Amino acid sequence: MTQVHVIEPRSQKGNVRKRCAIVGPVVGRSQALRMGHPPTRQDARIAAMARTAIALSAGLLLGSIPAAAQVTAFVDGRVIDGAGHVIEHGTVVVRDGVITEVGPAASVRAPQGANRIDLRGKTLMPGIVNAHGHLSAVFGLKSGPEYYTRDNLVRQLRAYATYGVTTVFSLGDDDAEAFALRAEQAEAPPGRARVFLAGPSVFAETAEAATVATDKVIALRPDLIKIRVDDNLGTSKKMPEAAWRATLERARAAHLRLGAHLFYLSDATALARAGADFIVHSVRDLPVNDAFIKAMKANNACYSPTLMREVSTFVYDSAPPWTKDPFFHRGYSEEISAELEDPARHARIKASPGWAQGQKYKAGLEVARGNLKRVSNAGIRIAMGTDTGPAGRFQGFFEHLELEMMVASGLSPMQAIVSATGDAALCWGKQGAVGTIAKGGFADLLVLGANPLDAIANTRSLDAIYIGGRRFDSPR
Ligand SMILES: [Zn+2]
Repeated sequence: MTQVHVIEPRSQKGNVRKRCAIVGPVVGRSQALRMGHPPTRQDARIAAMARTAIALSAGLLLGSIPAAAQVTAFVDGRVIDGAGHVIEHGTVVVRDGVITEVGPAASVRAPQGANRIDLRGKTLMPGIVNAHGHLSAVFGLKSGPEYYTRDNLVRQLRAYATYGVTTVFSLGDDDAEAFALRAEQAEAPPGRARVFLAGPSVFAETAEAATVATDKVIALRPDLIKIRVDDNLGTSKKMPEAAWRATLERARAAHLRLGAHLFYLSDATALARAGADFIVHSVRDLPVNDAFIKAMKANNACYSPTLMREVSTFVYDSAPPWTKDPFFHRGYSEEISAELEDPARHARIKASPGWAQGQKYKAGLEVARGNLKRVSNAGIRIAMGTDTGPAGRFQGFFEHLELEMMVASGLSPMQAIVSATGDAALCWGKQGAVGTIAKGGFADLLVLGANPLDAIANTRSLDAIYIGGRRFDSPR
């Protein structure tokens, strides 16, 4: 274990705390998977490295399991692999939490003595991967630094898992408690969603300050670097180009992928041209144009629409449509629904300065939906993200609504599923470990009662959730 002492801003608001960040061991799998390459360019090599590293870690795990190998075979179900393929009658074999075989029932048999799980009439898909979420200092609808505790972060990761979101990339505000949880999941299946971390988001006003801030984040050993290049609709300062270029350079040198929070097409194009790996919100001011598409493709960059983030900015001035949805109550209480339905709360929101901003984001959402279809048609890799974590952005539940909005915006159910599994992992360099049902990957699996290729809302039909081959029982 490495201990790194840092003084860092807790958030953009300048709440500074001295912390002792415990950073996990950086050997084997975590190092092999923390690749800074654009996806596809070296996919095969990276996937091979990931497989080797996972095999290594499975070997390490074996040492900690005294009994005979635990083998589970999922038999005779539809298998959606997360990379765009379907096996109608498939078998998936899992040994000690890692997938060891996948194929049609005719060619892959359940090993003798395996624990057999009959999937007749059901669908197996990879656990959902959220490429843009957050672990937040939030409890229910309340926010405050006192909520940034280990127990509360575990609760949030269990909320994600309750909805079948088995991996989340937390894009900012990540502190020592989150780094400790990440270190633990490298040792054993976590019994909650896996989390990968940006550490604190980087924002600076000069190249020099950006270099210092970025190096401080890199010292925490994050999985990626996140920057904010946004003026919040003209209400705050934008990170200047010289500053974000300095951060990009440091991220490159550290072999970390860089994700950019932004709003405007001009910023998105400049960032893509400069080599940013990942645009982590929709372009919301204008329809994307050929210059943007060309820059993204040249760079093999990824794009996360975060449509539900926009919805959360305007939907709460009246009762949102999901307060009576039983699926919402899979993870959230009736009390939260009652709060969301409270007319006094609606009145407060309508009178707040944020309300007018919400109306602008509402208009931006329509631009975003058109852009999602354009970007997808152009062949740019989409990674499902929601920006869940802040109050009113419900971890786990929103991911299903996001998938539904993506399909309503013109993607096929298969495209939406790939964006929320294999491509979400690939976009942050974790392919081979999570996001696909493939030999060598963690057995993070969802058993669905209904086929999501028929209707994307069937991702809600969660019969069982497995994380690292272990069944996850939801807390509610
Ligand atoms: Zn975010």
